[in-house]
This record gives sequence, structure tokens and C-alpha cells, in this order.
Amino acid sequence: MRSPAEARVDLDAISANIALLRERAGGAEVMAMVKAEAYGHGLVPAARAALAGGATWLGVAKVAEALALRAAGVTGVPVLACVGVPGEPYDRAIAEGVDLTAGAPWLVEEIAAAAERAGRPARVHLKADTGMSRGGAWGAEWPPLVDAALAAEAAGTMSVVGLMSHFACADEPGHPSVARQLAVFREMVEHAEKAGVRPEVRHLSNSAAALTLPDARFDLVRPGIATYGLTPVPQRGTFGLRPAMTLVADTALVKRVPGGSGVSYGHTYITERETNLAVVPAGYGDGIPRHGSSLLEVLAGGRRRRIAGRVCMDQFVIDLGDDELAAGDEIVLFGPGDRGEPTAQEWADALGTISYEIVTRIGSRVPRVYTGQTAGGSVHG
Ligand SMILES: *Cc1c(COP(=O)(O)O)cnc(C)c1O
Repeated sequence: MRSPAEARVDLDAISANIALLRERAGGAEVMAMVKAEAYGHGLVPAARAALAGGATWLGVAKVAEALALRAAGVTGVPVLACVGVPGEPYDRAIAEGVDLTAGAPWLVEEIAAAAERAGRPARVHLKADTGMSRGGAWGAEWPPLVDAALAAEAAGTMSVVGLMSHFACADEPGHPSVARQLAVFREMVEHAEKAGVRPEVRHLSNSAAALTLPDARFDLVRPGIATYGLTPVPQRGTFGLRPAMTLVADTALVKRVPGGSGVSYGHTYITERETNLAVVPAGYGDGIPRHGSSLLEVLAGGRRRRIAGRVCMDQFVIDLGDDELAAGDEIVLFGPGDRGEPTAQEWADALGTISYEIVTRIGSRVPRVYTGQTAGGSVHG
């Protein structure tokens, strides 16, 4: 059954974006970040498309996401769970060959204990806080973390595979924290290596850094948003990336109403004169931001139309003037922009947010429909 609204995901765009990122990364490997259902694009199909494009690592936030990849048969590729929290099913993760992140000695100990239960050493990336003040060990916390990991290595419960950190402001060209974080990361890596850590990979760069900071590539870059074709640095253009997601809905209903008609909840929009209204079957229950009421534009009948009045849970209305549109006609909410539709970046700009939030918030009620080489005609509800 066809759904009244769907998110079309072009998996070839994801593969091509990864190929572009690989080229831009020089010799560094690419870890495609597929957390949060691949930023709303669908975890497993997006992961497979990224691997087809040349990614050699996958990154997620939580252990459950990594286990979902393994359960779907995504094996033979390292998967890193980047957010280290207590109480995750670390023994299962280790048994499934999932790489883990540790930013504190107590977590090294928790993971080492899980490794004993799993009967094999954990693969761990030590996380340095180089200036974001979020996850990881900073300054004086780093040597004890390194020592705890080396002790676990000596006990055979752990292998330190990676040394990593994360930028706070790489999307703001020239922000002074960027050079500072890079220098601090170099020092922390040097300390760990002098202490005896032999990492396979050292990694620091998100999409913005991968595309703009060659000095920060190290052995591996971790692009998320760029994988999906959205620019990490809007003021620097698109970098040749191609947006993978197109959100469409079929017109539910068109009606002619008199001037002075109040439209949708609260009557915040009132028709100026007799006009055609179209009802679009997508609302905040699907992830359309309610803040986009009377603000966001969509492409209907080849023309841009602004949402008229409030976005409801399941639908919103647009004012067509005297233009005709029929029930069933496709409306493009956002996409790559080729046909004149808004991009997710444009919606984000209008709403004062980032493109990440626009695509990631599209809900599970909206089926993802896949096109491209690695799709095989699959539909995921
Ligand atoms: C999400 C995430 C990334 C990707 O960030 P983008 O800005 O989307 O490229 C990289 N590294 C870590 C640790 C992350 O959590």
C-alpha cells in the first residue's frame, strides 16, 4: 500500500557522497556515521550504501544501534558505538565484535568485566575531551584513563584500537577553538603512544573537518551529515554533495473557499480572497516542524507555496490562489532542490535550526522508499 507521505532515499547519492568524502580525505579511511537511523534515512540501507561507496567503518551512538546492524547481517566491518554510558549490554557488544568508546577509567573497568564474561577482549577507542566539554577525558583525566586501558590490555581483556576526540566548532571556519582542539589532540595522542598504546586509528574529524581541515584527518574521518548530502558548513556551499532524502506527500484534497476563510487551528491564516486550498497529509506527527506554520515552503504544481496556518498532527494546508491541483498530485516538501523544491537546509534556515534536525526528525510513520544500486526495491515502514 502506498503511503500518503513518504521519504524517498537515493542510496546512490549516499554512495557517491562517501566516494567524494573518501577522495577528499586523502589516504584516511571513512567511518560513515549512521546513528539515529542514519540521520532519518534508515540505518541498514544507508549503512550498506555507505559501504558500497567506500566506507570501511561504521559509527553509531549507542550499543543497540550497533547490535541492530550486526543482527541485519552487516558484519565484517568494524562498527563503533561512540557514546559510552554505564549499563549498556557490553558483553553482547563484545561478542558481536562491536567497537566501544571509553572516556573514563570506570568505563574501562566495566567494559573489561564484560569482556571476561564474553570470553574475548573488547575493542576500545579511548575518547579525549580536547575542548568540547562533553564526552571523554580531558587534561589530568587522560593519563589515568590511558593507564587503566593499558592495564586491561595487559590482563587480556581489552585492545585499544583507537584514540579519538570530537570538534565543537569545526562548522565555523576560523573559530579559534578548532586549532586549539587539534593541538590538544596531538598532545594527548602523543602521551598515550609514549605510555605504550598502539592504536590502529586516530580520529577527530566530523563532516565539517573532513571537508575543510586536511590537518585533522589523521587515520580516519567520521562524516555524518555529509554522508546524506547535506552541507556541514552552509556558508561554504554544498561541496558537491547530493542530498539523499526527498520528502513527498500526495495532495489529499483541493477545495475552493471564499475570501475571509480562517485556515487550520487558531485561524492564524485567513484567505485574502476566493482561493483554492490544498490539504497535504503530513504533520508534526510525521516530523514536520510545527514551528514551520505559515513559514515553510513546499513545491506544489511546479510552484513554491507557503504553508497556510498551523501545521496539525497529520496534515497542513497550502493556498494555491487560482492554480489547479488535483487530489493525488504529488507535493514535494523538501529534496535536493533540482525541481525547484526547498532543500532541508532551506527549511533549517527558515526555522533557525540545522539540516541535521530536519531529516532526523522525520518520523517512523513516514515510510522510507529506497532507490539506487543497493536498494533492491526495499521499502521500510
Ligand atoms: C555524529 C558524530 C559525528 C558526525 O558529525 P557530523 O557533523 O554529522 O559529520 C562524528 N563523530 C561523532 C563522535 C559523532 O557522534
